[in-house]
Amino acid sequence: MNGNFYGVYGASGFGREVMPVVRDQLSAQGVPRDRIVFIDDNPSHLKLNGHDVLTFDQFLKFDAECRYVSLAIANSSIREKLAARCSAAEIILFDVIAANVVRMDDAVIDSGAILAPFVTITSNVRIGKNFHANIYSYVAHDCLIGDFVTFAPAVRCNGNVVIEDHAYIGTGAILKQGRPDKPLVIGRGAVIGMGAVVTKDVPPGVTVVGNPARPLIKD
Ligand code: UDP
Repeated sequence: MNGNFYGVYGASGFGREVMPVVRDQLSAQGVPRDRIVFIDDNPSHLKLNGHDVLTFDQFLKFDAECRYVSLAIANSSIREKLAARCSAAEIILFDVIAANVVRMDDAVIDSGAILAPFVTITSNVRIGKNFHANIYSYVAHDCLIGDFVTFAPAVRCNGNVVIEDHAYIGTGAILKQGRPDKPLVIGRGAVIGMGAVVTKDVPPGVTVVGNPARPLIKD
């Protein structure tokens, strides 16, 4: 056996953004660059930005004591599927937290999160598994966020907001602050469009757009 081996699952846009953060985080722990690879089920390169690109099977075959993976794919259903695949193969989903992330008091985040550069998580926050907060997003006080929730860049999630599992919050969206006795609720699997200003609860599975955000009516 030959030490630990680390994979960034997804060798596309988000994966290429996550890799440098992973490399910085792991190099501070003394992990050499060649122990960190991309994993992709449909690889278009053998090497990308200085890292090998392996299929999942190749990743499993590589001689290692322990395998760790970060699921760097924005689609939350794919993340859930790959989390189950990793768990079945006894792979640990590790947290990726950029060096300049701000985390305040009592911010509890479950396993497998990716907090990109310039993210802030303020105080008394609960976040579920495999959360993605892309660059410049924030989560303010007393928010409760479920599993497999995805924030695109620059999401402004104000205090006392509840976000259920698999919701997707688009770039630059603003979620209005709720109240302790009546949080703003974004339902399971809801999609918040780019730049939307969300002032009311969004039911499960509904897509909203605009300011103030309203359900998207498809032509
Ligand atoms: N992918 C994968 N296994 C899957 C689904 C997707 O390896 O089961 C890979 C896919 O081949 C692609 C990447 O994940 O390289 C997803 O890239 P995409 O541009 O769709 O998403 P993003 O990088 O924005 O999350």
